[in-house]
Amino acid sequence: MSVLILAEHDGQHIKQSTRQAVTAAAAWQHPIHLLVVGADVSAVAAEAATIAGVAKVIKVEAPHLVHLLAEDVAAAVQQIAAEYQVIVAAHSTLGKGVLPRVAALLDVGMVSDVVEIQAPATYVRPIYAGNILATVQSSDAVQVVTVRATSFEAAANGANAEITSAAAPAAFGKVRWVSEQRNLSDRPELATASVVISGGRSLGEQFNTLLEPVAHKLNAAIGATRACVDAGFAPNDLQVGQTGTVVAPELYIAVGISGAMQHLAGIKDSKVIVAINHDPDAPIFKHADYGLVADLFKALPELNAALG
Ligand code: FAD
Repeated sequence: MSVLILAEHDGQHIKQSTRQAVTAAAAWQHPIHLLVVGADVSAVAAEAATIAGVAKVIKVEAPHLVHLLAEDVAAAVQQIAAEYQVIVAAHSTLGKGVLPRVAALLDVGMVSDVVEIQAPATYVRPIYAGNILATVQSSDAVQVVTVRATSFEAAANGANAEITSAAAPAAFGKVRWVSEQRNLSDRPELATASVVISGGRSLGEQFNTLLEPVAHKLNAAIGATRACVDAGFAPNDLQVGQTGTVVAPELYIAVGISGAMQHLAGIKDSKVIVAINHDPDAPIFKHADYGLVADLFKALPELNAALG
């Protein structure tokens, strides 16, 4: 029995979430195979083969896989699925799109957003916006599981796994990649950054001008609340929380954020939470390790100056 992990990459490098999925999959104590799907992924496969704990890397390459559509990736997983009893992916946009399709194609259920694995088929996963941890069990012959990457350490390098190829299934054809808009930033990736500074809607039009200099000095990723995104002060991909990105940094700084449960659901695993809010009764202070009752329009420039 082996475990298959759907690898995530940006066309050049394996993403951290795949390394974290490898650590999660070690719970089964079976050989781990990584599936790398894309148009030209030799370099990615070579990098995947170095991840400690990986026994084999399977490449599936075809020109139409240059943009990964969930239907095509699910077909690539399905064609080799018979060899596996466990199929895992990070609970990311890709994993959330592909694995339910894989489960449907295999006619099994799936378990999503797992934070703890009690192999072979018992899982702990958050429900009700992270307020309850449910322990669930799957009775399916094939376990299809997405894991919350931030709950697991990233596997380091240390392997020299075999790399093989599998043919790509024909393109699904009924879905077409049209375009993509990327917000290019030299900031660390929000989901994996070790420092995150997030702002609420109270920052208004000054969201960027106030947060950016501090984020730069702390080498932090920038996040936002949904209210801030909805108001148009921050782009959608910065949203942290239940319906945004779940973060687990060493340091999370919440600026002008009330601390709604949907926001807290995305920051609970942060090691240290610092809150700046002018309302001493703001709920965020109940969850913060350090709280500063202050006007953010004064406190942020002072923090920026203090950082030198
Ligand atoms: P507010 O709640 O308006 O809080 C603003 C805070 O700023 C207040 O605490 C205030 O005291 C403080 N403040 C104002 N001025 C200053 C100042 N000058 N100096 C210092 N402090 C100041 N929200 C998310 O963030 N992420 C999600 O994923 C998410 N998902 C949701 C899903 C659902 C189904 C629903 C219903 C809601 C969701 N929300 C989510 C929205 C959430 O409920 C809150 O509305 C939102 O998080 C509030 O954002 P906020 O803290 O920026 O705004």
